[in-house]
Amino acid sequence: MWICPKCGEKLEEQFGSCWRCSSLRPAEPAQEPAGSEPGGDQPPGWKLSYQFFRGTLATWDDLFTKAAYFATEVGPERVLNISHSVDDADGVVTVWYWEPKEDAADAAPSASETSSPSP
Ligand SMILES: [Zn+2]
Repeated sequence: MWICPKCGEKLEEQFGSCWRCSSLRPAEPAQEPAGSEPGGDQPPGWKLSYQFFRGTLATWDDLFTKAAYFATEVGPERVLNISHSVDDADGVVTVWYWEPKEDAADAAPSASETSSPSP
């Protein structure tokens, strides 16, 4: 069943045009599947960041202790991975973690200092 947009006559599906006013049957709006694929494992509003600890004179114990302290500060929910490597006899411990994406509107706290502060 479709309704003629011109005269409002109710018509059966098999008719391609209105028998009353001869206007053609309007094309039905294409129903596209709604919804987009989520883009990967990264949660929205978060970006992957890292902090590395290195030092020629530092021992592994010292670097791991610093990395562990940093990872504790970040929190268990946000720490993705902790890796370590030796770069030219220089130990490097890297802590990978998620940090919230900064909004551009909130990222300029120093701009208010240049302007006159409100009393
Ligand atoms: Zn009609």
